[in-house]
Amino acid sequence: MQTTKEVVCKQEPGIIIPVVNFSKCEGKADCVPVCPENVFEIRRIAAEDYKQLGLLAQLKQRVHGMKVAYTPNADACRSCGLCVKACPEKAITLRRST
Ligand code: SF4
Repeated sequence: MQTTKEVVCKQEPGIIIPVVNFSKCEGKADCVPVCPENVFEIRRIAAEDYKQLGLLAQLKQRVHGMKVAYTPNADACRSCGLCVKACPEKAITLRRST
């Protein structure tokens, strides 16, 4: 049986997506196990994404192993917010899908 809270929190997939700020993400992967929809994948930051970062953020990436969280399954997000709470770097925000 679903609780009222679960009904309120669960959006239909494809309405809200998580957005990862690569200037903050350190690839710690706390988002991976908490996501019930398997949205995240930790992998090496792509060259084109790395180039978009400022110098300080590039340096930070080098120090932290060049790993970030990508969202290959973003369309499955149901807006539970668990990843936002789990991220120690406050790198994830939820936005309306365009
Ligand atoms: S809000 Fe929930 S479903 Fe969406 S990516 Fe974060 S943990 Fe996964």
